[in-house]
Amino acid sequence: MIIGSHVNFTNEQLLGSAKQAISYGANAFMFYTGAPQNTIRKPLDENLKEQAFKYMHENNISMDNVICHAPYIINLANNTNEEKWQFSINFLKQELNRCKFLNIKYIVVHPGSAVGLEKEVALQNISNALNNIILEDSPMVLLETMAGKGSECGCSLEEIKTILDHVNSKNIGVCLDTCHLNDAGYDMHDFTTFLNQFDQIIGIDKIHCVHLNDSKNALAAHKDRHENLGLGTIGYNTLLNIANNEQLKNVPKILETPYVEKLYPPFKFEIDSLKKGVENPYLIQDIIEYYK
Ligand code: FE
Ligand code: FE
Ligand code: ZN
Repeated sequence: MIIGSHVNFTNEQLLGSAKQAISYGANAFMFYTGAPQNTIRKPLDENLKEQAFKYMHENNISMDNVICHAPYIINLANNTNEEKWQFSINFLKQELNRCKFLNIKYIVVHPGSAVGLEKEVALQNISNALNNIILEDSPMVLLETMAGKGSECGCSLEEIKTILDHVNSKNIGVCLDTCHLNDAGYDMHDFTTFLNQFDQIIGIDKIHCVHLNDSKNALAAHKDRHENLGLGTIGYNTLLNIANNEQLKNVPKILETPYVEKLYPPFKFEIDSLKKGVENPYLIQDIIEYYK
């Protein structure tokens, strides 16, 4: 099982992220190159990068299983303010360069929100922006499936397909988020049916990352609030089943579940339960006690 969580990008940069991933028992991880809610970025250090590669090699983390996530404040879908749209495009270009420097192969991007524009126009804006951003030697951009909160784009397989169809590059794929899919109205309890549907519309080979999250909200709630595995409406066994899916065997599964009591990272426990495949998972109380 290729499993990890999102981790911090500390003063030690990629090395710090890798160390955190190993402390959770992970063999994959996802990081932001800085705070996800802003676009302030520190320069990347060559020496720390080399140390990170060495550390990851020693600890059996393949670069195929390391994912970057673009900050969620950039919006490629709305171009009513030309300057703001260009800022998002330029920022993402720089982010792709940072990924290239770090040998990162995949970067997850939220398609964006239409905010007042017609959906079709917004979807075309996203494709146009991506055609500006993705180069021949870029890391692959993975569009994340969204919950459909507000005017979010990419909350149906058809919308994702429309964006993909208008992107000229082959360096484009999809990241499934189980919480978002649930909130968008796709029932994760029947994952085989969902995957078949995905395969017919987009193609399973386009999936290069799965965000494995439970959801605080009901099917089709269009909310986007993540929950710890087993405490939400999707449920532990369904998520375990997705983590073990044969067709997605080589795709990294990344946990973005909330910290317990906003303090304690649940990842070590969630990863351990998934790897063991136990029917009754970790207890929240165990997490609290471990970190206290
Ligand atoms: Fe995301
Ligand atoms: Fe996600
Ligand atoms: Zn989310």
